[in-house]
Amino acid sequence: MKKNRIMILGLLVSIFLVNCVASSNLFITSKIPQKRDNLNIDQKNSDSINFNPKLAQLSGNFSNYNLSLIMDETNSMVEGNLTVDFYNNDNVNFTRIPFHIYLSGMAYYTRQGRIDIINVTDVNDPNISFPFEVYPTSQIMWVNLSDTLEPHKRAQFKIQFNATIPDGSKLPVELLDRANSYGNDGDQSRIYKFASFYPIPSVYDNKDGWNIDSYLTTGDPFYFDMAYYNFFIEAPTGMIIAATGNLDEKLDKGETTRYHFNPVYPVREVTFAASRYFQVQSKISNGVNLSTYFLPKDAYLWNNYALNHAEDALILFNASFGTYPYPTLNIVEEYTSFGGMEYPNQVYISEVFGNRGNPLYVANWFLEKVIAHEVCHQWWYNLVGNDEVDVGFLDEGLACWSTDYYGEHYYGDWEYFQYTLYIDTVRSYYALNGLSSKINQTVYECLATDTDYWYVAYTKAPLIFEKLRQTIGLSDFLDGLKLYFTRHQFELVLLSDIQRAFEDVVGHSLDWFFFPWFDNSFLPKYSITHNSYNSDTQNLNIRIIDLNEPLNDYNYSQQVPLHVYDASNSLIFSQTVWINGTTELSFSLSTRPRKVSLIYSNYVLVQLTDYFDLTLDSFIPFESGWIPGYEMASFLVISIVLIGFVLYDHRRKIKIKR
Ligand SMILES: [Zn+2]
Repeated sequence: MKKNRIMILGLLVSIFLVNCVASSNLFITSKIPQKRDNLNIDQKNSDSINFNPKLAQLSGNFSNYNLSLIMDETNSMVEGNLTVDFYNNDNVNFTRIPFHIYLSGMAYYTRQGRIDIINVTDVNDPNISFPFEVYPTSQIMWVNLSDTLEPHKRAQFKIQFNATIPDGSKLPVELLDRANSYGNDGDQSRIYKFASFYPIPSVYDNKDGWNIDSYLTTGDPFYFDMAYYNFFIEAPTGMIIAATGNLDEKLDKGETTRYHFNPVYPVREVTFAASRYFQVQSKISNGVNLSTYFLPKDAYLWNNYALNHAEDALILFNASFGTYPYPTLNIVEEYTSFGGMEYPNQVYISEVFGNRGNPLYVANWFLEKVIAHEVCHQWWYNLVGNDEVDVGFLDEGLACWSTDYYGEHYYGDWEYFQYTLYIDTVRSYYALNGLSSKINQTVYECLATDTDYWYVAYTKAPLIFEKLRQTIGLSDFLDGLKLYFTRHQFELVLLSDIQRAFEDVVGHSLDWFFFPWFDNSFLPKYSITHNSYNSDTQNLNIRIIDLNEPLNDYNYSQQVPLHVYDASNSLIFSQTVWINGTTELSFSLSTRPRKVSLIYSNYVLVQLTDYFDLTLDSFIPFESGWIPGYEMASFLVISIVLIGFVLYDHRRKIKIKR
């Protein structure tokens, strides 16, 4: 009983951790309206149109990898061969190339994950060895090349390795990491999940040189170039395999079966999951073979919903951002301590949602949210990639915004999947935590500055994208995302690339938006430091300052509704005004005003101490020489007190006389 409670608590806590930002599941009943059926986008049954997306011809300047595996079920491992045809897309000569060998950095219960490099040899002659060095603490292997690799040239070699995935444990849940073999054969629940399980080349860039970061526990610490893959898996016959790419060939060899998967277009990495118990559902939608893989224990949930959610996400994101070009997309159940995890062509969704005694509609709310989120990473992470250590908030913030856009599209509410609204969390974040919250920081900077990476990437970043959407309008916002996608698919981007895409759509600089909202540590905190009304000129003058301006690098500009009231508290004037740093405003009013209020409704972003207190009031002082009714009242009160005292004193004197 106690164990159960600890587990449930652990699951609730852990659900905050990675990828899926979902909070407590207990009170969302009111947020479950009927789903709308695809509003304007009628592609759900497009198979008959024979819609087969094809990209423009790619340049072909990508690395090519042949990854060939033999799976050993008993030992949760694979024997692997990676044939590398590495393309140098940088203007630098290389004499060696680093590869991530992440598995030993992952959490485990009793069996640590590991990648053992057996040898690195010439592609054609196994007797010609390439020297290599392994650095276990940073999970990096360097392969020394036989010749200097010049820009735009290729280097070939073959890496032979063995990879064992960690076991895992649900107690504590944090021991279930991105790769694990977990579950039992007795109750048909065992899954082998192979992720980050082979040597993956690091990325070289102008900022960091080689990016050889170890496996980090903050964020999704991945950063890979696109490459063509041929992916071969030989597994015990009877295993059901979900893997990156189209199944080009399946060869039954008796005790084992050999599969050839081919993503067709470049991807950043590959993954596979194997289980003897997976149930599979598939359909062709938008020219994509869409499949779900799930355990019998969760069929009641997945069987009803998962494929539909995945299809709804594919339809919406295809139409909104640009075409998903690959032939396959898999949604695969996994054991994790977090909501889900994205990989190219294949995303994983945690099995926790049905485990907590959740009513079906609650489990389904989680399932739909996480499927939409992870599917969206096909656009923001795989097709348009970024350094998730340096700018992880970029793909994560966009994936979160897009998940909420999915909620808006299908349920009419951008906040549908936000149990706690981003806007409330962000406006009261400083009051509750006393922490700064600059978005544009690397994972290392976040750790050094005590910034909560999860908060900035999963809550503040999507809110800032929503602020931009509300500022430039949905049409321009979506056009900006489309342009960003079209320009940068198969590439790696920086924050400035998405800014430029939006700027090219709206036709002017957006420095004024991007710099303060992404680079400042504190939200604006307005104060009305001066207001006055001159009855002769009938002018109301107001000065608004941002008290947090000295703490930030850039001045904020945003629109804020302003209301003016008379002495009887009736609204006599309202206007939405721009507040740009310290702002002086002047209005002509025929009625004498008594109070000025800034109204923090909707998506005005300010630092609040109480998120229910959404107005900033300021009373207008009276001009000198004017005796208002208000002050007459005080005069009367004082007079009555004085008269009372005089009468009392008079009676006392009479008493004494007696
Ligand atoms: Zn994510």
